[in-house]
Amino acid sequence: TNNKRFAVFGNPIKHSRSPMIHAAFAAQCDVKLEYRALRVELNDFERAVTAFFDAGGQGLNVTVPFKEQAAACAAELTPRAARATAVNTLWRDDEGVLHGDTTDGVGLVRDMVANLGWRVQEQRVLIVGAGGAVRGVLEPLMRELPASVHIVNRTVERAETLAREFGVLGKISAGGYDSVSDEQFDLVINANSAGLSGEMPALPPGILSERCCCYDLLYGAEPTAFMRWAAQNAAWAVSDGLGMLVEQAAEAFYVWHRQRPETQPVIQQLRGVLAAAA
Ligand code: NDP
Repeated sequence: TNNKRFAVFGNPIKHSRSPMIHAAFAAQCDVKLEYRALRVELNDFERAVTAFFDAGGQGLNVTVPFKEQAAACAAELTPRAARATAVNTLWRDDEGVLHGDTTDGVGLVRDMVANLGWRVQEQRVLIVGAGGAVRGVLEPLMRELPASVHIVNRTVERAETLAREFGVLGKISAGGYDSVSDEQFDLVINANSAGLSGEMPALPPGILSERCCCYDLLYGAEPTAFMRWAAQNAAWAVSDGLGMLVEQAAEAFYVWHRQRPETQPVIQQLRGVLAAAA
């Protein structure tokens, strides 16, 4: 076929929803493409990227655990990818130069602000976790001008490093889970992968303000452990990360095709697919 070829590389990759999302965007925008989810061996990433583009591949998404390696092998990074030192979107230009971008952070901010109608500006924000996802999120989040950002993490040093690195963009503090006991927050973002096994870090009660919004980067058919905790602590609004997943894909689609698909119908469609698979 003459379809343009795209793929997502990850390991594991079986449960990736990216092929479905990009197929839905392509149908909307009248773009002819194929998009596959490919499992890449841990020591084979860079070779697989080169082989994919040499064979005429047009664009790649990259997911766990390759985002940092993808940043290292791109010759040109967008400013936001350079700051995040993580890449989830790759493409080659006409000269054969490999470019990398990160769309996770704008995906999160778009879902919270545009889709859910939550405020970030002037809000006191708590981020739980200090891994790769938070790295990608901090710059677009700081652009929304929150009143303050506090990062808590099991490994406190990782949170402190992020606070130092991104603190030039505004006020960011860091600490352990017990560093928040006498504070309140208006927006809590969970980026802790312990939720994958149904766990939730031991955050103290009473830290949610009256109109606090709670966002989990995780998603699934059932409410996550963090979402249940938020509901028990009388959060005003709670969301999982499905919208972020679709929004980061839409931004990658824009990077490759210069067209902005409608995300809302695809979020609805994906909700239905997840519910049916449960
Ligand atoms: P990383 O592996 O880079 O970071 C994991 C984070 O979770 C670290 O802060 C780590 O703390 C913490 N953690 C892991 N296990 C435990 C545990 N048992 N107890 C306490 N803390 C723990 O992952 P990412 O940052 O890439 O991803 C974070 C989450 O966000 C994942 O669940 C991922 O699926 C999700 N995600 C969702 C996206 C979406 O589109 N919705 C996009 C990107 C990510 P420590 O530093 O101490 O190890």
